Order: sequence, then structure tokens, then C-alpha cells
Amino acid sequence: MPSSALIIDDSVTVREQIIRTLESFNLFSRYYEAEDGLEGFKKLLSAPVDVILCDLEMPRIDGFKFLNMLKARPDLQDVPVIILTGMNDRERKIKGLELGASDYITKPFDHEELVARVRVHLKIKKLQDELKRSNELLLELSNTDHLTGLFNRRYMMEALEKEMQRSSRKGGSLSLIILDIDHFKQVNDRFGHLQGDVVLQKVALQLQKELRKYDCAARYGGEEFVAILPDSTLKDALLVAERIRHALQGIQFYAELEGITLTASLGVASFSSGQSMGVDSFIKLADDALYRAKTTGRNRVVFYDPQSSPDHNNDGSGTTTRSPL
Ligand code: GH3
Ligand code: MG
Ligand code: MG
Ligand code: MG
Repeated sequence: MPSSALIIDDSVTVREQIIRTLESFNLFSRYYEAEDGLEGFKKLLSAPVDVILCDLEMPRIDGFKFLNMLKARPDLQDVPVIILTGMNDRERKIKGLELGASDYITKPFDHEELVARVRVHLKIKKLQDELKRSNELLLELSNTDHLTGLFNRRYMMEALEKEMQRSSRKGGSLSLIILDIDHFKQVNDRFGHLQGDVVLQKVALQLQKELRKYDCAARYGGEEFVAILPDSTLKDALLVAERIRHALQGIQFYAELEGITLTASLGVASFSSGQSMGVDSFIKLADDALYRAKTTGRNRVVFYDPQSSPDHNNDGSGTTTRSPL
């Protein structure tokens, strides 16, 4: 992988010497130069750098000020800074290291020592970058459902909790849709588990298509899916749920699955600021509505109606129209 070094020194001669030495060992594919800390900082912000060599004494922004500026940028903490110090600079070496420098090289520098030290820090930087990348990948994997690529249940629960808190803080409504494929067991029984998986993947894809960018679609369980719709009233969510129901019914299947029609039942619930409700209770409202959708004939959207209460001789749920949109 190409790597780059930034050399900050007010002396052109020193910069040239350093670059020539590093070039002769083919350590970097790019070299950036700056004559003081400020210019160096600007270069650093405009291009990724793997190692910085920085003089301490410079006009305007010197090496110490440069190290202080770096400290304020958490995103730049991983870039090693090797300071260039005078021979008998004990105090300043210590101060530089305390300010966050990774190492120092004494001027006039020994070419082999310069190369050896730069190599060490380049290696550490590469290992750190790899670690960061694999941590990011791991995080992504731990939030993802392997079969469908949607978020998994664990992530969904966290996201729902955060959205409920956000909605409580900022006001507005938040809606939740739980979807369960109708008679999915029959698909498995007729076509086998692998074809069942294909169906789940298609449903996931279609579900994602019907949602906005900032909605969250997750696989909740075997053939159950959840959609979290931030900033959506019950009315908004019912339109979305109906659109999803209609879209699933229209999925075309090919090959072995050619000709099958899939339907799903959906339960919808909404939460608005001012309500005190936990994640589990919110899910239960949508789940109860889903149960009602199943028991009243499937292939339909049923919602939990917060306006209704048992006093109104109503079980708190309602069904939307089932006519195609
Ligand atoms: P209902 O309309 O009442 O929801 O009926 P159903 O058949 O969809 O529901 P049921 O809960 O009886 O069956 C769900 C099936 O989903 C049973 C299980 O084998 C299947 N299933 C769960 N996870 C997976 C999976 O990852 N892949 C496949 N192919 N099938 C799965
Ligand atoms: Mg100098
Ligand atoms: Mg189910
Ligand atoms: Mg089912």
C-alpha cells in the first residue's frame, strides 16, 4: 500500500537530506514538505500521512505548538511524529515526547538510524490501521444479519432505544412495524430450507426498498422483520406498512419458486414524546397488533391505536384497508 511522509523543518537543506535518505530506502511513495508547524498542519489535513518528521525550532508555529495542535484532533492521534532535536536537547526531547511525539532523532542525523526509526513507526502505524479496519469490520458484522444483510435484532433493539430517547427529547413521533411472513413454513416444506432462505433475502431487499434512508430495517427473528421509522406518525407508518404489504405480494419469483405468491401480516405502533414507555412495551404493542393481523385473516396491516382505550370498549387495535394501493 502506498504510504507518505510529512517533513516539517524550516531548513530546506535538512528537508532535502531527509527526503533523499528515505527515498534511497524506498520507504514512502509520497513526500510532503512544510517549513513550519502551521503549513505542516494544513498539509496533514489535506492528505493522509503515515509518518511525520518534525523539527522543534521553527519560526511562527514551532514543533511544540504543532504537537499541541495535533492533540486537539482525535482523528490524527494515530499518526506518529518523530521530532528532530539538537544533540544536547534532553529537556526538549522529554517535553516533545510528553506532548505526544512518538520518538526523536538527533540532528545532525545518522542516516541509518533515521531509516531504522522511521521503519519502526511506519510498521506500528500499519498495524494500528489494520487493527482499526478489522475492528470496524467486526462491529459491522456484529450488527448485521448474515442471511439478509439487514441489521440484526441486537442492533435493532439498541437503535429503537436510542430513537425512543431522541423522540422523547426532541418531540415528535416514532413508529414501529413488525412484519411476519404468512405460512412461511409451507415454503420450506415445499421447496426446502435453501429456497426458504432465498425468499427471506428477497423479502429483506423489498422491505429495504420501501423504506427511507434513515429508517432502520432489521431481521427480528426467523421470518419476522422490523422497521423503525423515526419522525413518523401512526398515519405515516400505516401508509408505509400498506405499501410494504402490497410490494411483498407483488414480488416475482423465478426458477424453482416461479409462480408462488407471498404475503405477510404487519403490526404497527407509534410512540410520541410525552408517553412513558420502554422498548419492550413498544415492541409488544406492535407485536399484539401483528398477532391480531394473523388471527383476523393474515395479509393485512393492523395497528395499535393509542387514542383507544379499554374504556371505549375497544381493544386498542384497528385494521387498515386491504385494497391494493
Ligand atoms: P404464520 O402465517 O402463522 O406466520 O405461519 P408461518 O408458517 O410463517 O409461521 P411458523 O412460525 O409456523 O413458521 C416459521 C418458519 O420459519 C419455521 C422455520 O423453520 C422457518 N424459519 C425460521 N428461520 C428460518 C431461516 O433462517 N431460513 C429458513 N429457510 N426458514 C426459517
Ligand atoms: Mg529549525
Ligand atoms: Mg413468525
Ligand atoms: Mg410467519
